[in-house]
Amino acid sequence: MSFAKASVRDCDVAGHRVLVRVDFNVPLAAAGPGEAADRVVADDTRIRAALPTIELLRERGAALVLCSHLGRPGGKPDQALSMAPVAARLSELLGTEVKQAPRVVGGDVDLMAGALGPGDVLLLENTRFLPGETENDPGLAAALAQLADIYVNDAFGAAHRAHASTEGVAHHLPGYGGLLLEREVNELGAVVGSPRRPLVVVLGGAKVSDKVGVIDRFLEIADRILIGGAMCFSFFRAEGIATGNSLVEEKGVELAAEALRRAELSDCELLLPVDLVLGREFDAGTERRESDGVEVSDGWMGLDVGPRTAERYAEAIASAGTVLWNGPMGAFEMEPFAAGTRAVAEAVAKAPGTTVVGGGDSVAALRGFGLDGEVDWLSTGGGASLELLEGKKLPGVEALRDADPTAEEEEADA
Ligand code: ADP
Ligand code: MG
Repeated sequence: MSFAKASVRDCDVAGHRVLVRVDFNVPLAAAGPGEAADRVVADDTRIRAALPTIELLRERGAALVLCSHLGRPGGKPDQALSMAPVAARLSELLGTEVKQAPRVVGGDVDLMAGALGPGDVLLLENTRFLPGETENDPGLAAALAQLADIYVNDAFGAAHRAHASTEGVAHHLPGYGGLLLEREVNELGAVVGSPRRPLVVVLGGAKVSDKVGVIDRFLEIADRILIGGAMCFSFFRAEGIATGNSLVEEKGVELAAEALRRAELSDCELLLPVDLVLGREFDAGTERRESDGVEVSDGWMGLDVGPRTAERYAEAIASAGTVLWNGPMGAFEMEPFAAGTRAVAEAVAKAPGTTVVGGGDSVAALRGFGLDGEVDWLSTGGGASLELLEGKKLPGVEALRDADPTAEEEEADA
């Protein structure tokens, strides 16, 4: 499957003003002590991920109006979540001054946008300073559209939301997919649509309910699903196995039972851990014990998969044509319980097959182990990746123009 929507690559932008929705929802840190201290961008990964589209548009002579949400200000201005630190960091990365609008729309913003020349960049204030953003208010969408004559969506991480800046605005302007959004849709789409086999999906993390849609989908598509993380305890509880004080999501138990029933009828093999690492409590200094087996007695909680499980999972990953990994195998933030996640990360990094990793914590784990450069695609979108993999349509993608089929034919002929 390839991107079925119009791409920014095929858009003639010279001399136009382009509104670009980016995902600049980055972590901030205080630049100094005290409440009122200025803030700085603590991790600029998402800003860097948007650079190819921004640079392409500038090279082609467009004037850029960028917008993004940042955190959850709840529909009203909150100085602590201003885009100002992002504008500063983006200026450094682009080597040019990025102008910062004092608000999202209205006031002087129209004038500031109107004054932009080719290659100039204006960053609007946090779109979630206005309640109309998450309400997908048509008035806000129209006001955003006033600022430009072309719309580009490169905010894959927000594409599962139908908000004014991700969806509504595309009803007023011709909408194109940015390079990052296009690549995400293509990479994740290929895992579901045309994977090299065997397709092995490794799922972990905290909650079954977050990922049950992905489990359901891959029971139809994958050859093997390997389950780890706290979510395995919902499966064990569903099988009547004692889980002690392990983190069990109550509503996850019924979902897990249903997934087990479906797995019986499917050609896909669903693997659960065969051994565990236990702790007394969720704490790095807690008493630790390896358990050969998966029953957990009272007073203990499962905090990682054991070494035999890690080895089985690593073998499955090594023999895969395609690996998709989402969710850590244990409480990897605590070194005594990181071995299972490290083993999976190392296996994914070494795997000869195509490797795709999604999920904020899984990507953070890979980065922590210094292995983030060793995988084929690191997805920038948590919820958006999961929804795309589940087979849901993403409103931020759907609202874009369809690709011109004749352009694709010409490309194929060339
Ligand atoms: P991702 O962001 O990669 O999708 P999740 O957010 O679903 O992953 O889950 C990550 C969290 O799950 C981590 O904070 C980790 O500590 C926690 N976790 C994993 N296994 C366990 C476990 N056995 N007990 C408690 N927490 C766990
Ligand atoms: Mg997470």
